[in-house]
Amino acid sequence: MSHLADEIRRRRTFAIIAHPDAGKTTLTEKLLWFGGAILMAGAVRARKSGKHATSDWMELEKQRGISVTSSVMQFPYRDCMINLLDTPGHEDFSEDTYRTLTAVDSAVMVIDSVKGVEAQTIKLLNVCRLRDTPIVTFVNKLDRDGRPPIELLDEIESVLNIECAPITWPIGMGELFRGVYHLYDDTISFFDPKAEKGTAEIIQGLDNPRLDELIGEQAEELRLEVELVRGASHTFDLDAYLAGRQCPVFFGSAANNFGVQSLLDAIVERAPGPKPRPAESRAVDPFEEKFSGFIFKIQANMDPKHRDRIAFLRVCSGRFERGMKIRQVAGGKSIAVNNAITFMARDRNTTDEAYAGDIIGIPNHGTIRLGETFSEGENLRFTGIPSFAPEIFQRAILRNPLKLKQLQKGLQQLAEEGAAQLFRPISSNDLILGAVGNLQFDVVAHRLAHEYAVEAIFEPVSVATARWLHGSDEQLKLLADKYPQNIAIDGAGDQVYLAPNAVNLRLTQERFPDVRFMETREVR
Ligand code: GDP
Repeated sequence: MSHLADEIRRRRTFAIIAHPDAGKTTLTEKLLWFGGAILMAGAVRARKSGKHATSDWMELEKQRGISVTSSVMQFPYRDCMINLLDTPGHEDFSEDTYRTLTAVDSAVMVIDSVKGVEAQTIKLLNVCRLRDTPIVTFVNKLDRDGRPPIELLDEIESVLNIECAPITWPIGMGELFRGVYHLYDDTISFFDPKAEKGTAEIIQGLDNPRLDELIGEQAEELRLEVELVRGASHTFDLDAYLAGRQCPVFFGSAANNFGVQSLLDAIVERAPGPKPRPAESRAVDPFEEKFSGFIFKIQANMDPKHRDRIAFLRVCSGRFERGMKIRQVAGGKSIAVNNAITFMARDRNTTDEAYAGDIIGIPNHGTIRLGETFSEGENLRFTGIPSFAPEIFQRAILRNPLKLKQLQKGLQQLAEEGAAQLFRPISSNDLILGAVGNLQFDVVAHRLAHEYAVEAIFEPVSVATARWLHGSDEQLKLLADKYPQNIAIDGAGDQVYLAPNAVNLRLTQERFPDVRFMETREVR
């Protein structure tokens, strides 16, 4: 097998999705620690609270102590090269998370055993579903008195509409949490919060008398429960998992390091490597010799000394090498990338090479847009990188009306980076910004002031939701003639319907049955 194929096959690129507080940061940190990528637990938490400066690029982020941006952590584990894509912890930046999910091959979903499935879990899972992303579930905080595991699995199945196949099964919970039984290896790992990596001892076999010795009465309860669980739950089915229909489930306690190793091993053994990606003209196979990739995220001012931006590119095929000339397909220009960044967990390094599945950062001055494709020459355009309908809309108001040009330019560029979405109504000169979370407006206002010297404020407008319009030119014109006050053009020049409320949207949809009102738009 060729070196290229070997390297690509061993890539595992994933993100962790969770409702805030379920334990994503803790689990990230423990995965890095078990993977040998950090020497000491605590490093990621320090970053989250803003003590560390490596990924904090904006004052705003430091002030609020939240991660505005996603970053990437790469580390080798066993035979694999892991790329763990971090997502912002704060739900106001979930648009960033949504986009990051377009760049992964699988995801880990963290569920808090006390709270079960929460609002943000549902949203994020729906985003994964757009690409049938395979999901592994980690039920966290078993050291607390949570809900019965059977009930949690039922809830995941019914609310998230995905089959659950438990791989491990917890022995007790809270004070009585003793460890997990591995349903397939027939091993029992005992929990010890004082053991360095959370596990005290591993024994083979449910019938092992050592089990009774260690946990007394709970041993018999476990045997009965395992029998029940085997009968009542789904058996792990690799194909169903890879198709995004079934999630293997692990139980543990990230804070106590317990269950993390099994999870990491499962990712290495079961999670998919890079898959073919659809482009407009054809599907692109990761093992193709020629390099290709797309931009899923743009991050500004990572280094506050510069005004540079970093465009995050997911390599979709072939190999990237420092200094390589790659073509920015949309503009038709070739650029030599001498200063690409990779994301080894301990440091940001200038990279020599990257393979399909990896992420590289390309510094630029605002010339690279979200969703753009890069290739070694071919006229490729990757699809499936959507924009999501914003949930909050505000109108930008200038403090100094003479700065309208700067405001327009600033908003247009920030929209191209994905900081928020821009809509221009066809019947007025308003500049309406759409976002998923309120903090996005703060980021835009902050950046307008610092990068474009424009003082803008935002005020509410009566728009509840947006839909991208697809239909014949004739139908779209009829619609625009009838409801000019509801039609706007987005940052990419596409027509959008801005609805003041759900009833209005429904009525308009009924009147124009031949027009499709889409909740997402492909970034082009
Ligand atoms: P995030 O918001 O999803 O990134 O969650 P964090 O990792 O910051 O965790 C939220 C809170 O849950 C923190 O106080 C953690 O210490 C706590 N936590 C995380 N894992 C566990 C666990 O296994 N058991 C318990 N009891 N608490 C945990």
